[in-house]
Amino acid sequence: MSYCILQIALDTPLDGVFDYRWPCEPGDEPAVGQLALVNFGRREAVGVIVAIRQDSQVPAGKLKDALAVRNQLAPLSGQWLALARFAAAYYHRPLGEVAMPGLPKNLRLSTTVALDRALKKLAKLEDTHDATPANMPALNPEQRQAADAIGGAQGFTPLLLYGVTGSGKTEVYLQACAQVLARDPDAQILVLVPEINLTPQLEANIRTRFPGLMLATLHSSLSEGERMLHWLAAHQGRARIILGTRLAILSSLPKLKLIVIDEEHDPSYKQQEGLRYSARDLAVWRAHQLGIPIVLGSATPSLESWHHAQTGRYRKLELRERAVRDAVLPRVRLVDMERDKPKDGLTGALLHALRQRLEAGEQSLLFLNRRGYAPVLCCESCGWISNCTRCTANMVLHRPEHRLRCHHCSLELRIPHSCPTCGNIDLQPLGRGTQRVEEGLQAMFPQARILRIDADSTRRKGSAQAAFDSVHRGEVDILIGTQMVAKGHDFKKLTLVGVLNPDTALFSQDYRASERLFAQLMQVAGRAGRAGLESEVLIQSRYCTHPLYGAVMRHDYDRFASDLLAERHQAALPPYMYQALLRAEAPELAIAIAFLEQARDALASSTVTINDPIPMTMTRVHNVERAQLLVESNSRPALQAFLTAWVDALRALKSRVRWSLEVDPLDI
Ligand code: ADP
Ligand code: ZN
Ligand code: ZN
Repeated sequence: MSYCILQIALDTPLDGVFDYRWPCEPGDEPAVGQLALVNFGRREAVGVIVAIRQDSQVPAGKLKDALAVRNQLAPLSGQWLALARFAAAYYHRPLGEVAMPGLPKNLRLSTTVALDRALKKLAKLEDTHDATPANMPALNPEQRQAADAIGGAQGFTPLLLYGVTGSGKTEVYLQACAQVLARDPDAQILVLVPEINLTPQLEANIRTRFPGLMLATLHSSLSEGERMLHWLAAHQGRARIILGTRLAILSSLPKLKLIVIDEEHDPSYKQQEGLRYSARDLAVWRAHQLGIPIVLGSATPSLESWHHAQTGRYRKLELRERAVRDAVLPRVRLVDMERDKPKDGLTGALLHALRQRLEAGEQSLLFLNRRGYAPVLCCESCGWISNCTRCTANMVLHRPEHRLRCHHCSLELRIPHSCPTCGNIDLQPLGRGTQRVEEGLQAMFPQARILRIDADSTRRKGSAQAAFDSVHRGEVDILIGTQMVAKGHDFKKLTLVGVLNPDTALFSQDYRASERLFAQLMQVAGRAGRAGLESEVLIQSRYCTHPLYGAVMRHDYDRFASDLLAERHQAALPPYMYQALLRAEAPELAIAIAFLEQARDALASSTVTINDPIPMTMTRVHNVERAQLLVESNSRPALQAFLTAWVDALRALKSRVRWSLEVDPLDI
């Protein structure tokens, strides 16, 4: 018997790929891109074959045999592997740690029962190959131009679709898809959205427009069985439109011909743990690698994308008007909370507007980006406050659930009957979350149908969808919610948006806070008046003269973005600077800082600025102290070259401190 050596990438923090022996005759080796089951340490693991060799550096006595090769599955393509390789190199993580978690869990099991069952199911499914679109509305001239530009683009073409809220970007995507599918009957198209909540509406839209095509969805709320089926349908090239959230960017799409990224500015495209990748950035890389067009859509593009459009790297397509006849952007008014003192969090002006909507039978949306009843419980007699014993954070009062909850470490306590320090029984909630606003509204408008949508009210699977459906059916008069309700949805009867408490973000240390707040306000304002009814947005603020609010009132993204870009340029911040953040975690802050000081001194550079370590703003989470160190450069290649050498140096330190590196961090 002769053998070959399989080099296999496995999901482990250990760097490198691993050699295994596999019995086979020459010419009959497995293919690169196939999955294989091996013994790794004391467990069995599935990895992907990235190379096949005749010999190994590993001494023969230590070389193990692979256990199985998953022959029933077609190999992952070279292009898919190249994407994984790029992501691994760019984010400085081991290849297997990037490649494997993107695959369905059921593919990574020791047994093939689930795989075989899914393949059988798929084999029975009839292939639908009819890409003829149905029920396509006539586009307005701006939409037509945009759709033709996308649909007709050849080769790598990044396009920024900059269209005001309600301008009908979805229609543009769908008609561009139709053009691509008409030209290339086998084409696959990837459509990314920031949140699962936005998939059902778009999914329904796609199904009615392309009734003859197989659609696959990929997002975190699928069951493992569904996920496997959809992933396989995409991998086999049979699913033609793939609709997903950020994780879908790493899926196998052998015939990919167009990528659409809706709401491209949305921070949800950034994974915030483990491999901290940006799905948007990887999508642009993937489009470049494949030589295909990619469209990034938004009413408030990220400054990165806007900058690319200004410098001509991205082609800008503009939709200036709302698509529905007579629909205009809502009037935005600021309500001065110093003069119009709020009752239960709501000013007289907002209450008046709510009453008008109720009388007219129209819907209102109140936006407050803070869930729970009150952000903190306190004792006025001794000053005790409900802080978390494990985090630098307060425990949030959740009154309906009778709990104090830490939103960072998920510690839960019953609400104390009296002050733990002085025994005072009169503990007061301080500040206001969505639950408390809901309570106030119920007391003031007992007849109104009020619905709260936030992470707490939608914990059960399917409940978010049910809640949004009832808003669409007109069964809700006043909707109160967090950012979950602020984006994407097309509520037809909504004519009033009230924004509570946006001021805190104005004075944040985070330089991105104003960009984010502006986008959030434009998005939530954009929920109003989409079907042609006259509408308005009321923003309650103590800083009514702040220029950011002025820009929101004028719906003036252009001006806001160019001012902000000028500021960023002046202050040498992204997108004029490239950054990476090294984080360290330890039981004591001094240990984390000491590690980062070692890291700072580990490697000198003339092209990269290495800053001093500092504690993170939220220093302690779940009894772990956290510190960070920022490195930056005005050259991306220089930063990347530095990081490659630096990560080697950091590994060589063999420190027991847990550390992680984030490239292009969003939160600093
Ligand atoms: P955006 O994503 O740009 O905020 P949507 O794609 O949700 O906007 O479209 C807003 C509304 O306009 C939807 O109700 C959609 O059906 C409608 N619409 C889009 N294009 C047209 C058109 N050409 N004619 C009439 N209505 C349109
Ligand atoms: Zn007390
Ligand atoms: Zn905590």
